[in-house]
Amino acid sequence: MENKYVNFGNSDCCGCTACYSACPKNAITMSENEKGFKYPVVDESLCINCGICKGVCDFNKREHISCSDSPLAVYGIKHLNENVRNESRSGGVFTAITDVLLERGAVIFGATLDDDFVVRHIKCSSKEERDKLRGSKYVQSDLSDTFKAVEQELKSGRIVAFSGTGCQVAGLKSFLRKDYENLYTFDIVCHGVPSPKVFGDYISYINKKYGKISGFNFRDKTLLGWDMHIESFMVKGKKRISRMYAQLFTTDYISRESCYNCKYTNISRPGDFTLADFWGVDKAFKGFNDNKGVSLLLVNSEKGNDLFEDANVKNVIEFNKCESDVYIQPQLKQPAKKPNGYDTFWQEYEQNGFDYVMKKYSTLNKKIGLNSNKVLIKRFVKRKIFKKI
Ligand SMILES: Cc1cc2nc3c(=O)[nH]c(=O)nc-3n(C[C@H](O)[C@H](O)[C@H](O)COP(=O)(O)OP(=O)(O)OC[C@H]3O[C@@H](n4cnc5c(N)ncnc54)[C@H](O)[C@@H]3O)c2cc1C
Repeated sequence: MENKYVNFGNSDCCGCTACYSACPKNAITMSENEKGFKYPVVDESLCINCGICKGVCDFNKREHISCSDSPLAVYGIKHLNENVRNESRSGGVFTAITDVLLERGAVIFGATLDDDFVVRHIKCSSKEERDKLRGSKYVQSDLSDTFKAVEQELKSGRIVAFSGTGCQVAGLKSFLRKDYENLYTFDIVCHGVPSPKVFGDYISYINKKYGKISGFNFRDKTLLGWDMHIESFMVKGKKRISRMYAQLFTTDYISRESCYNCKYTNISRPGDFTLADFWGVDKAFKGFNDNKGVSLLLVNSEKGNDLFEDANVKNVIEFNKCESDVYIQPQLKQPAKKPNGYDTFWQEYEQNGFDYVMKKYSTLNKKIGLNSNKVLIKRFVKRKIFKKI
């Protein structure tokens, strides 16, 4: 008999959990591989070969779930509240829109960094809880049973917002197998999701070297601005800064293998909204960029458009409509390229451990995104806050 259950290679599974969540016999577990990424494992003694798990795998479909061929509208956005912008990755548009949904009684699902320094999806019913979703966490988030929880809330009639990477949003919609008027989805433009194991090892490294860590910010823009990629962490009440994890992330060695084969790095998006950093803002709108963060918002559906037009959203933001294609950054054109030495990197990781690869590889990438070490040092010296770890 032909096996109808999921059994894809590592580069063909994004780990969205749609198959795990849809299995009527609970025959699938999400099991961590040696790199720290979760993959579905089917228990053949429980499997009835119904094929549902394969059927809900959007990543391997020829026709992917999408809202529109291209966005209905594109905006550059800054939240008017400076604190909101400081705590958000870019311009804080996620807070502006979800505030309105929360006022309508919605529940919001998104990724947080929990007290154990694990990135996981949580359910939020208040603004205080939702604030924990602010900021990008450069690690693949653990969804666990989030898809089932979303479905339960939708069926109860409650308004639900779900935010996640393109593959997570597509996976959720594919798992649900029907459109819900009460569901709003936000997909984020994504360079690739790094390994939870590598991030966990980084936290252990900090604990060992400096003492117990009590907070971590993957990209602290309050130090030197939105365009700088610097992480910060708290140890013994003191803020320390580093670029080690950022540098490792941008070498692309620590991303999930399916990210190099991503199906969602284009402008046909799975969410009602797409969120990103508005790289290219200076070309689009002169004088708008104050280096405190500008969100790129793609509005992909009529439902999203109606929500964005709500006066309570527009009253708390400053926005500009983008009429050209300057907003199309590399991650909206093609996936990140798999580095040549990917397998060697992981062999070395297994043999020599985290400290070894961190030292060897995190110094390879001298230029991160928009800023080089030269620019960084200049700004540090200017502000006299240089503290090397
Ligand atoms: C791994 C990763 C790679 C990214 N790569 C790019 C990129 O190449 N180019 C680009 O322009 N933008 C990238 N972003 C996204 C982008 O920086 C922000 O999501 C966007 O600017 C939102 O800004 P905001 O101020 O409106 O929202 P914020 O309030 O900061 O909201 C953050 C939102 O991101 C979600 N989120 C945070 N971390 C994760 C995660 N690990 N998994 C799933 N969802 C998460 C939260 O649930 C929340 O909805 C990336 C984000 C992540 C997590």
